[in-house]
Amino acid sequence: MVDILVVGGGIAGLSVAGRLSKSAKVTLLEAEGNLGYHSSSRSAAAFIEDYGNEIIREFNSASKSFLSKDGVDVLSPRGSLILGKKDEKYAFKEQCSGFAHNEISVSDARNLIEIINNKSVKYAGYKEDIYDIDTDKLLQHFTKDIKANGSEIYTDSKVIAAEYKEGKWHITTDKKTFICDIIVNAAGAWVDELALKCGIEPLGFLPLKRSMARVPAPDDSGNHKSWPMAFGLNESFYAKPDAGEMIVSPSEETKSFPHDAYANDEDLAKGIFNFEKVVSYSVKRITSSWAGLRTFAPDRTLVIGFDSIVPSFFWLAGQGGYGFQTSAAASKMASEIILGEKSSFGQLQKRVSPNRFK
Ligand SMILES: Cc1cc2nc3c(=O)[nH]c(=O)nc-3n(C[C@H](O)[C@H](O)[C@H](O)COP(=O)(O)OP(=O)(O)OC[C@H]3O[C@@H](n4cnc5c(N)ncnc54)[C@H](O)[C@@H]3O)c2cc1C
Repeated sequence: MVDILVVGGGIAGLSVAGRLSKSAKVTLLEAEGNLGYHSSSRSAAAFIEDYGNEIIREFNSASKSFLSKDGVDVLSPRGSLILGKKDEKYAFKEQCSGFAHNEISVSDARNLIEIINNKSVKYAGYKEDIYDIDTDKLLQHFTKDIKANGSEIYTDSKVIAAEYKEGKWHITTDKKTFICDIIVNAAGAWVDELALKCGIEPLGFLPLKRSMARVPAPDDSGNHKSWPMAFGLNESFYAKPDAGEMIVSPSEETKSFPHDAYANDEDLAKGIFNFEKVVSYSVKRITSSWAGLRTFAPDRTLVIGFDSIVPSFFWLAGQGGYGFQTSAAASKMASEIILGEKSSFGQLQKRVSPNRFK
């Protein structure tokens, strides 16, 4: 058995630890008191197969059957509507084709979301094949696997130092030192910081902040629960039903740094303003709000593989805005590489390797 230590208790760390725990002794360390505390509890929980660059889309597609009814059953139908105003014809056509939406009439769009404002909205594009992800269920699925396979999870356990000596990693938290053969870096926004602690050259990840406002449903009828996710053009906003209310994001990408991100009023107001332009509904109050970090590699593509200089240090990083929808395939690829198993992914493995930055 190999001793593997995974750093990070978000979807990346839990999914790879869950898979590895079937064949290896795994220890997972999470700095916070709760698993999934950072980006993994702040997402929009959407599965959009045509989202992200070509490589990300391959991961989305390769993850779908695992996430669907045949697998862990965390997807439920949502659908998606792109909405364009009078002066947005070309941007609308471009976005519809980029996200594989079919153009429909505004009156058909109003059959899907009755509060669409037909005075301001002139273009609508629809795609049925978009899903909500039950992110809690997915995190719990992997957590249960880790425990059932006899591996261990430590929360409140921030890695503060690491040293490689006599063929083993010595990983220190403020409570304990763990000794292992392989360290898996799934530390989200902190991946470069963790690399530095391990004496490894950082790869230049950039955390980008994105915010979300929860607002009351337009009325008490509950009709909104089946509305598709709605997108403004050029990332001006997106909105979807969530937990009996609506969530509205300004879709911003603000350059940030690893920290416990929070939303600011100006960003939230911008998203709500853009949402209100296309609906006949005015948001009276924000029920709650939050922000999270979407952490990207310089080429906005996942990084999965052993470090090219230190081969016992594994990167599972750069999940950006797709960490849940890519998680099934990304964790499968990662565990195959770590365990030295035959790859199910062919050339895709090379395209996400950290070697591309050297
Ligand atoms: C507003 C928003 C909307 C999004 N919408 C979607 C969506 O619709 N669909 C989708 O697929 N994705 C979405 N995402 C992206 C998704 O949430 C992320 O890609 C994913 O959660 C990243 O998971 P992670 O495990 O890499 O990071 P995290 O969840 O941040 O986990 C990393 C963990 O590592 C821990 N850690 C860091 N350093 C240390 C250390 N030294 N020692 C121990 N632990 C450490 C941290 O405490 C943290 O808990 C969205 C993100 C945001 C912010």
